[in-house]
Amino acid sequence: MLFTHRGLSGPAMLQISSYWQPGDHLEIDLMPGKDAFEALCQARRATPKRRLSTWLSEHYPKRLAQSLVEWQGDDGVLAERSNASLEAWADFLNRFRIKPAGTEGWRTAEVTMGGVCVDAISSKTFEVQGLPQLRFIGEVLDVTGELGGYNFQWAWASAVACGQSV
Ligand SMILES: Cc1cc2nc3c(=O)[nH]c(=O)nc-3n(C[C@H](O)[C@H](O)[C@H](O)COP(=O)(O)OP(=O)(O)OC[C@H]3O[C@@H](n4cnc5c(N)ncnc54)[C@H](O)[C@@H]3O)c2cc1C
Repeated sequence: MLFTHRGLSGPAMLQISSYWQPGDHLEIDLMPGKDAFEALCQARRATPKRRLSTWLSEHYPKRLAQSLVEWQGDDGVLAERSNASLEAWADFLNRFRIKPAGTEGWRTAEVTMGGVCVDAISSKTFEVQGLPQLRFIGEVLDVTGELGGYNFQWAWASAVACGQSV
C-alpha cells in the first residue's frame, strides 16, 4: 500500500477497489502481525525518554510518521503517556479507519467489474447458447480476476478455448 499525494494506492488498494462500494469505510492494520499496544508499552519501558513521533519514524517513513502524529493530534515523551493514551494510539495503528472519497475511476482502472453475463455462455467454446455464431471472451465477460495476472490469464485462456473450437 502506498500513500501518494492523491490518496492510497498500490496493489493492495487496487485489489480492494474491486470490492469497495462508495460510502464504505476501510479499516487498515498499519502494524500487521504486531500488537501495537504491546509494542508501545515495550518501547515505553525500554526507551522512556523517546518521543512518540521518534518511535513512529522507526516503523514508518518519516513523513508518514509526522502525518500520523498530526492526524492523531498527540505526541510527547513515551514515559508521560498513560495506558489509555497508548491504547488509543494502538487502536489507531492496528485499526486505521478511512472513508475514501472515491476511486480514480476509468483513468487508472485496470479491470472492469460486470460485463456480458456468463450464464448463457459455454465455458468450453464461449458460444452464446442458442446463437453459436456469437462468442464472447476475455474482459467483456462478467469475470473479474484477482490481481496477479489472472485477467491476462482469463483473456488468453478463454481466447485459446474459443479459437480451438472454431
Ligand atoms: C493499465 C492496465 C494494467 C493492467 N495490468 C494487468 C496485469 O498486470 N495483469 C493482468 O492480468 N491484467 C492486467 N490488466 C487487465 C488486462 O489488460 C485485461 O483484462 C485484458 O487485456 C483483457 O483482454 P481482452 O482481449 O479481453 O480485451 P482488450 O485487451 O481490451 O482487447 C479488446 C480489443 O478490442 C478492440 N476493440 C474495441 N472495440 C472495437 C471495435 N468496435 N472494433 C474493433 N476492435 C475493437 C480494442 O481496441 C482492443 O484492442 C491491466 C489493464 C490495464 C488497463
